This record gives sequence, C-alpha cells and structure tokens, in this order.
Amino acid sequence: MANLGIPQNTIAVLQKYGFNFQKKFGQNFLIDTNVLDKIISSAEITKDDCVLEIGPGIGTMTQYLAESAREVVAVEIDKALIPILEDTLSAYDNVTVINEDILKVDINAIVQERNGGRPIKVVANLPYYITTPIIMGLFEQHVPLKSITIMVQKEVADRMQVGPGTKDYGALSLAVQYYAEPKIVANVPPNCFIPRPNVGSAVIRLTRYEEPPVKVEDEHKMFALIRASFNQRRKTLVNGLGNAAGLSVAKDQVAAALEKMGLSPTIRGEALTLEQFAELSNLL
Ligand code: SAM
Repeated sequence: MANLGIPQNTIAVLQKYGFNFQKKFGQNFLIDTNVLDKIISSAEITKDDCVLEIGPGIGTMTQYLAESAREVVAVEIDKALIPILEDTLSAYDNVTVINEDILKVDINAIVQERNGGRPIKVVANLPYYITTPIIMGLFEQHVPLKSITIMVQKEVADRMQVGPGTKDYGALSLAVQYYAEPKIVANVPPNCFIPRPNVGSAVIRLTRYEEPPVKVEDEHKMFALIRASFNQRRKTLVNGLGNAAGLSVAKDQVAAALEKMGLSPTIRGEALTLEQFAELSNLL
C-alpha cells in the first residue's frame, strides 16, 4: 500500500471508500511526511517497542509505526474505518486493530496481553475533543508506560508544559508534570491535515517518571486540592479551599498551613508550584 503521508494517496483511499469525515470523532488526518517522520523520531520507536496508537484513522501513522515498532495495537472508534484499515495495513503482520472507544477499553489488559505487562509507548494524533480524559486515564489507571507522544491542540500542549505565573497554568499542567516530563517537539499548522482543523496543533512528548518528582502522602487529596484551587482561580487559596465542597478543610487550617510554608495568606493557587501543592496537601 502506498504511503498515506502523501496527500494524493490519502485522497485516493478516501475516494475509493467514499469516506465521510465525522466531525464528532475529531477526524483530521495527517498528510505530511515530515511531521510523521518527526513524530516517529521523537517517540524513539525501536523494534523492541509495543506501541498503542489511539485513533489510527485510515492508518497513516500506523504504517510508520508498523515499520519501526515490534508490534502496534491501534484502537479506533469509527466502524466505517475498519475495512479501510484492513486494506491500508494489509502488508503488515504486526498490527492489531481494535474497534472500540479508547475511554472504555481496558488498556491495562491490552498491555498485559500484548507486552507481558511491560511498559509500552503511546503514539497518537489525538481526537482533540477528548485529549484530557485520554491522558489522565492513562496516568490515573497506572498503565505501564515509557512515553506518550501525541499531537494535540497547540494551546493544550502549552498548558501541559508551563509553570506557575502564566495564564495557561492550571490543573492539567500540574497533573501532567506530576507523572511525566513534558516537551513540545513540533508545532504543526492546519495545512498538514485533511480536513484542516481550525486550531494550531503541536506534538508533545510526555516521558513518564519512574518516581513522581514530589513526595505526597495522598495523591487523591492533592489533586482534589489542585482542582478546587483552579475551579476558583480568582479567589485566594484560603477562601477558595475553605469554601470548596467535598474538601472538608477550614479556612484557618489553610491559613495555618500557608504560614508554615512561608507563603502569603492572600496567595492564589495559580502561584503555587507542584512541590508547594504537595507540601500543602501533606500539611492539611
Ligand atoms: N491517526 C490518524 C491520522 O493521524 O491521520 C487519525 C487522527 S484523527 C485526529 C483522530 C482519530 O481518532 C480518528 O480516526 C477518530 O475516528 C478516532 N477517535 C475519535 N474518538 C475516539 C475514541 N473515543 N476512541 C478511539 N478512537 C477515536
């Protein structure tokens, strides 16, 4: 099968099957060989790797992954793409396509079955409407992972990478940085896709930490604090956390913890680093 990174080849496949793009599935297919090469090289795929691809589409990146990895498992929700994938991937015997919703499939079971529970790499041009639940699902379900190399909306890539004191900093930044080291490896303009998305895109690599960079006694509590802090972004921590439903901490407890940490009683959550959120959580 011809290289689908070349636009004419993708168009020929779409025409052959009379494929209709489904907006609700976030379908924007890559048609740029340089971007595809860049994703594969940034993910550092080798013949030892088992790769999970989320949303293979017509199999463009899957072809590249099948060439460089030992084994590829691709999870695609759209039934209409399954016969197309059988055709475009017919040359490879190291690819398994699963017709499922990635948010419902048991990824740990796939890793167990396909890679004996050893860490896999995730590579994807993600459907943008579910970027955060996909990433958080992989981390929170403790899927054995080496890295996640993904195309996401540019603004979301920025949010994953920034630290305190910027408008993009928030719960996603802290969650990602607790589990992994983020690095934006490419900016990708809309004309690299068919159809063109109406936002800019970026490829970001998240390299999973073996141990989180901060010590926290209760992860759930820390993330509940983080979410509550950014839900009420304009409030001081003392007021925001003291009011938050489900947290059961009193304003004076928050004030006392901040004092112990040498922080101002009027500080906002957006000024705290991951280390400081961990310390606050441990103190509370
Ligand atoms: N990988 C292809 C490429 O780069 O050309 C397609 C990428 S496209 C941005 C996203 C893909 O994810 C589509 O094929 C879409 O059908 C699929 N998808 C959307 N929601 C999904 C879900 N919940 N589970 C699995 N796949 C999904």
